[in-house]
Amino acid sequence: ADIPTAAISRLVTYLRILEQLEAQDISRTSSTDLAERAGVTAFQVRKDLAYFGRFGTRGMGYTVPILKRELVRVLGLNQTWNVVIIGMGRLGQAIANYPGASDYQFQYVGLFDVNPGIIGQRIRGLTVQHVQDLPDFTRHNRVDLGFIAVPPDRAQDAAQGLVDAGVRGILNFAPVVIQPRTLERGGLQEISDEWRAVIVENVDFLAGMKRLAFYTLNPHLKETPTL
Ligand code: NAD
Repeated sequence: ADIPTAAISRLVTYLRILEQLEAQDISRTSSTDLAERAGVTAFQVRKDLAYFGRFGTRGMGYTVPILKRELVRVLGLNQTWNVVIIGMGRLGQAIANYPGASDYQFQYVGLFDVNPGIIGQRIRGLTVQHVQDLPDFTRHNRVDLGFIAVPPDRAQDAAQGLVDAGVRGILNFAPVVIQPRTLERGGLQEISDEWRAVIVENVDFLAGMKRLAFYTLNPHLKETPTL
């Protein structure tokens, strides 16, 4: 069955709440408690968790470290993720220098740019390389994910470069929609083989600002979480 994207976003939120509970030495929680902290209904919490199994005991709630461990496993955060960043300008450098990613096993293994003034610089123990060396780099190093932090008009090329180099997970920070390469087969446009398994997630800070402007002017149009 398809699992709604919003359910996965909520699992990430539940995990963050469980981490906070653990940091406060709170060892038990319930769907009602998680729901309150996440701003959703208890029914929603139970439904989201039920996609992946049964984690609690009826009427007893959840053990924080166990539910946390299970969510970490479901989200794939118990394995290492080798990440490259394409574009080491202001945002690329800020991302590389942000320590939060290493709470889980995301590790930056390669940093790439095209600017000779940036190539060769050492950032977080890595030397920035020319993006044309990416294919060679991925032949010798396992790369699971690529982050795109290049100017908007370069983002599609950067994505294609990542996909050509065998990277299947892309986090795109540029405010553009990345298009998969298509080819014509029997009069129909089809997604090319190398793009079929590619997952693109967009982080669009400007879109957030625009939504914020709209909802600040039209607060009555915002869906209220059903409690
Ligand atoms: P920037 O100009 O500081 O950095 C972009 C970097 O990409 C430069 O170092 C440039 O040399 C490099 N580059 C250009 N073409 C490349 C290519 N083909 N391959 C590899 N590297 C290449 O820009 P920025 O502010 O870091 O923003 C990067 C992207 O993130 C933009 O799309 C921007 O819209 C988006 N963004 C930025 C911010 C922010 O606060 N800076 C916030 C949200 C989104």
